[in-house]
Amino acid sequence: MTDPDDRSPSDQARVGEAAATPSASVSGESGPAVASSDASTHPTVDIRGLHKSFGSNEVLKGIDFRVDHREVVVVLGPSGSGKSTLLRCVNLLETPDAGQVLIDGIDICDPDTNVNAVRRRIGMVFQQFNLFPHLSVLDNVTIAQRKVLKRSGADAEQVARVNLERVGVLDKVDHYPAQLSGGQQQRVAIARALAMDPEIMLFDEATSALDPELVGDVLKVMRSLAEDGMTMMVVTHEIGFARNVADRVVFMADGKVVEEGPPARVIDAPEHARTQQFLRQVHDR
Ligand code: ADP
Ligand code: MG
Repeated sequence: MTDPDDRSPSDQARVGEAAATPSASVSGESGPAVASSDASTHPTVDIRGLHKSFGSNEVLKGIDFRVDHREVVVVLGPSGSGKSTLLRCVNLLETPDAGQVLIDGIDICDPDTNVNAVRRRIGMVFQQFNLFPHLSVLDNVTIAQRKVLKRSGADAEQVARVNLERVGVLDKVDHYPAQLSGGQQQRVAIARALAMDPEIMLFDEATSALDPELVGDVLKVMRSLAEDGMTMMVVTHEIGFARNVADRVVFMADGKVVEEGPPARVIDAPEHARTQQFLRQVHDR
């Protein structure tokens, strides 16, 4: 298999997509891991002047955005405002056109950066759970640990069990995804991401595909991660979660950050008409 670092940025983005989904980067690439720098000197995620277009559609129009170590930032905004694209730029599933994405002070767009080493530090959870249907829960949670982190089967299984317990689905360890509810599948997907020991977790509408009665269990798991001090960037329409769990809320519209601040200000006393209008729509649902 070709070394992923020899590929074009768009090829690398596809490899990254695989790493974040069940095909789980079978690249086996073994570049040096990126040393973690002192968390107190850098925000964990520092995005500066980020621009991204698809053809003539400018989706991100100069985004400045940071997430500090152990901070939970919730991103709100209408559909099409660029939230997913922003999240995907953080682990180079999309390649920015301009601007910088620094992870612990390391510019991940720099051609000399080992993208896969950086990406391994970032867990991502999508709206669709992307579990392997033909693999048991245990195998879904161990496969990337074994192939990417080169853990032994026994070590991977132990880490899987710890994380399945953490998300409350250890009793499903021998089940297949189709035997689980959507909420259980999403919790397995979270356990799979956690099993890779990420330093940052990205959630892109992790509860949007779930039946309403299953949303709470997944939000509870996300909340417990936040309470454990995980650094998190969360795109969600769950205003209650944003109000109760976020350290900071960022409201985006039309590819720009409209306003940001503590939830009590952005959600309960938004300054901008665009934010007020969005929140009215969300509350009225
Ligand atoms: P949000 O997550 O806020 O709904 P997205 O980041 O998914 O917004 O999309 C923002 C805009 O970018 C939309 O107009 C969408 O159609 C467009 N877009 C997103 N991804 C792609 C892509 N891979 N190719 C072309 N257009 C895209
Ligand atoms: Mg989206």
